[in-house]
Amino acid sequence: MTSSSLQTTSLSKQITYLSFALATVLIASLAGFGWWAASNIDDRSIAREARAVNVGLSEIAQRLPVEQDSAAIWDDAVINLRANNRPWIADNLAEWMSSYFGHDRVYILDAQNRPVRAVEKGVAADGLIYDQDRNALAPLVSGLRKQMAAAAQGVPDSTEAVTGMGVRDLVVLAGDMPALASVRPIVPSSDAVQQAPGSEFLHISLRFVDQSVAEEIGRKFEVHGLAFESTAQTNDERIAAPLLNAQNRIVGFFSWVPQEPAYELIRDTAPVIGGGVAIAALAVIMLLGRLRRTSTMLEISKAQASFLAFHDSLTGIPNRALFEDRLDQALANRRRTGSRLALHYIDLDRFKHVNDTLGHPAGDELIRRSAKRLAALVDEVDTVARLGGDEFAVIQFEVTDIQSAVALGQEIVAAFEPPFDLAGSEARVGASVGVTVASDSDVTAEDLMRQADIALYEAKDNGRARCQLFAGELDDAVREKRALEMDLRSALAAGSGLHLVYQPIFGTHSGAVVGAEALVRWEHQERGRLSPASFIGLAEERGLIGQLGMWVLGEACSYAVKSQLPWVAVNASPLQFRDERFADRVFQILAETGLEAKRLEIEITEGLLLQNSPMVQETLMRLRARGIRIALDDFGTGYSSISYLRNHGVDKLKIDQSFTAQLGKNGEIDGIVRSIIDLGRAMHMGVTAEGVETETQRQLLGAMGCDQLQGYLLARPLPPMELEAMLLAATAGATETTSPRSAASAG
Ligand code: C2E
Ligand code: MG
Ligand code: MG
Repeated sequence: MTSSSLQTTSLSKQITYLSFALATVLIASLAGFGWWAASNIDDRSIAREARAVNVGLSEIAQRLPVEQDSAAIWDDAVINLRANNRPWIADNLAEWMSSYFGHDRVYILDAQNRPVRAVEKGVAADGLIYDQDRNALAPLVSGLRKQMAAAAQGVPDSTEAVTGMGVRDLVVLAGDMPALASVRPIVPSSDAVQQAPGSEFLHISLRFVDQSVAEEIGRKFEVHGLAFESTAQTNDERIAAPLLNAQNRIVGFFSWVPQEPAYELIRDTAPVIGGGVAIAALAVIMLLGRLRRTSTMLEISKAQASFLAFHDSLTGIPNRALFEDRLDQALANRRRTGSRLALHYIDLDRFKHVNDTLGHPAGDELIRRSAKRLAALVDEVDTVARLGGDEFAVIQFEVTDIQSAVALGQEIVAAFEPPFDLAGSEARVGASVGVTVASDSDVTAEDLMRQADIALYEAKDNGRARCQLFAGELDDAVREKRALEMDLRSALAAGSGLHLVYQPIFGTHSGAVVGAEALVRWEHQERGRLSPASFIGLAEERGLIGQLGMWVLGEACSYAVKSQLPWVAVNASPLQFRDERFADRVFQILAETGLEAKRLEIEITEGLLLQNSPMVQETLMRLRARGIRIALDDFGTGYSSISYLRNHGVDKLKIDQSFTAQLGKNGEIDGIVRSIIDLGRAMHMGVTAEGVETETQRQLLGAMGCDQLQGYLLARPLPPMELEAMLLAATAGATETTSPRSAASAG
């Protein structure tokens, strides 16, 4: 994985973690706030219930004196008490009060605070019961007496002053029974009855603070389960509040089941809210999952894109960009660690041939298999890269000495010796390897690549299928040749800079143009016009002649098919005949251009016949069988014998210009030329003399019976347009006598 895809992974993780953290914080804060708000609301509700209990209690306490006064402010009450009318007292003051209003205990005290009547729960009790409560009630009783005495001081009748007076408190009776106690004076209700200060009866009502009080308050104020106990009864459900008397002493506890509206609301709505939260969480999780998947897909396509940018699509091994990057890095590391490395450049020797003969799919397969063979040879740390076409490179790490680098180079050469089986055909390619070892510490990647390239060039120059260690920079001549080779490659690839000129060949007796020889020219961008002599040899040496030859043939045929020229002659290098499909290629060009076979002449050299190869014989035979003529160029300079001529079958001999140049000057040469012409006639071959520059040469050749003449005297090689003009002029003047000289160009 690349560093950028790692970043993407951590980004998607970061987003996931951040989202989880945010969701957690959000849910926690919502829950926290909700909990806070709920407990706040519930606390307030509990406080309200506590207040309600107090209010309820004080309402009961306030009601006591009002209820007492309904009978205690009454003339009849004073009169009947003075008369000690017991039944009346029971029916109207004591028992009645207890049973009618539910006062738990009622006492009536005389002016000396002695109980004249004691009632408990509506039933008369004996006076002893008051003795038990006396101490608890004494402070109230004496307090009221003092108030009354003070209010009625100096008046004969106390009625007006004490009416409405009274005291009340929460008291604790014997047996720790808390009770609300109210003490009121019993006073006349009219002026009809007089009452001297200090003679008043007192009415005491007690209401026990017990379960019945708790139930009454609970009912009225809706406090659930309100109970009164002497000790606090709290648990998970109940809470308790203490009841204090006037002296702030705890006299008991009210306890109840508090209402918690918020808690109840939460409990009631929990399923709905929980469901909502679950759905939201699910949605968030799905969204995050989607985000993860999207970013994973993004990571994968990013990784694929960056893989494609740095790898060769055919073989999957590193491409030139990655190779250069690794080489740079390796050199940088090397400066730190001091370890050695070697660079190998590998070029497949006959790749183009395989591509041409077996087709491009087979060529692709060959490249893939070659990459595999290379990868199998190197260590895991080493890099095998495809630089383009049939060129590979290996960066070899941990090179102990030069020998180990050369050893790998030789292994590579050996690995390409066995043929490849491609779609049922055996393809033999072979590999040339150039090796260089990074020697000094500040060698650059460019230096190394140049050195490996030079070594590779030398390996190819020395006959291919070999490994060459970089021995030193190239000398100027080699470098120049190499540069020219590069230029020729690109000229051929672009189809620019190369063109053909045509040198007419004349009939000796008619003086008319009978044909023309196509000659290639190269307009080099820097060097100007180059003669074939300076690049045909190079093309042959560097394996470009096949491509160049086919280009010339195609050009010449396309020209001839449009021209009135009777035939065109094209030079073929002996190396072109090594291609077993040469004849087929020629036929294909004829088919493509539409030129008749009999309008094509192919010039071969004696060297080709000397090979005496059955394949060459067969190719020549096939060409001739089609009607293409074969001319033997530069005849006389080689070593061909009559038997070679007979074996191969040739249609025409072209006497080399070195002989023509000596005609008339050297009797021996004249004899040789004459015998060549005789030989041609004897073997039914035409004869052309090349390099005719003088009138003497022309006349001598004519006299010797030479059929055709070619040379500067008659015409120089011409651009197609000029040749066309010459042919046109010749047709126009055909009726007049045309001398060869009149047709000559300034060329
Ligand atoms: P060649 O096939 O013998 O071609 C004749 C050469 O002699 C041409 O030189 C031509 O310009 C030159 N020549 C013609 N008449 C005279 C004359 O009166 N005096 C002198 N001194 N020279 C004359 P060019 O064009 O420089 O070609 C040189 C050679 O290059 C050719 O010799 C041929 O072997 C080779 N060549 C040219 N074009 C091609 C090509 O397309 N394919 C191959 N394979 N070889 C080619
Ligand atoms: Mg020629
Ligand atoms: Mg020649």
